[in-house]
Amino acid sequence: MRLHVVDHPLVDHKLTALRDVRTDSPTFRRLADELVTLLAYEATRGVRVEPVEVETPVATTTGVHLSTPKPLVVPILRAGLGMLDGMTRLVPTAEVGFLGMIRDETTLQASTYANRLPEDLGGRQVFLLDPMLATGGTLAAAIRFAFDRGASEVIAICLLAAPEGVAAIERSFGPEAPVTIVVAAMDERLNENGYIVPGLGDAGDRLYGVV
Ligand code: URA
Repeated sequence: MRLHVVDHPLVDHKLTALRDVRTDSPTFRRLADELVTLLAYEATRGVRVEPVEVETPVATTTGVHLSTPKPLVVPILRAGLGMLDGMTRLVPTAEVGFLGMIRDETTLQASTYANRLPEDLGGRQVFLLDPMLATGGTLAAAIRFAFDRGASEVIAICLLAAPEGVAAIERSFGPEAPVTIVVAAMDERLNENGYIVPGLGDAGDRLYGVV
């Protein structure tokens, strides 16, 4: 497993505004969208490409295009949906699947309530979108889901992570697993309710309101 904390002043600037309790939902959605595009740039550094010939107005040369099968982007509902446009803006030809996972607020256990993913993910690079890596339960279940269907590699893009969550992923899959976590910042800890501290609160509520 590899952890990549993106170190960039624009990432820090947008994240600070996201954290601010006074940031309203429309602004939060726009900032999350912009931030994800910056994170996606780093997260796709290892995306598979293959050589292709291209004819310029002057000569023929060799370039690259994304390999087939195309990368699969999977927002984890509900909050991951707020990261989808930012990701597909950068990789418009990616395919998109959906995974609905909910965390029991008492036990903090994650369970799947919806999935729209290909049965066979053989050899695919899967990009999971989940804004908050807190206990790691939801992300671990989603990574397991992808590997069970044959994914060769999972790249998780998160806005924030707690050390407890990163440790849980490492414990679940081991240091050599083909799993990369790309995150804008690593926060201090989880509080007794499983919230990231200092964090940004409930990402789903801040994106979409309390429903
Ligand atoms: N989920 C959230 O939305 N926020 C947290 O701080 C932890 C989990």
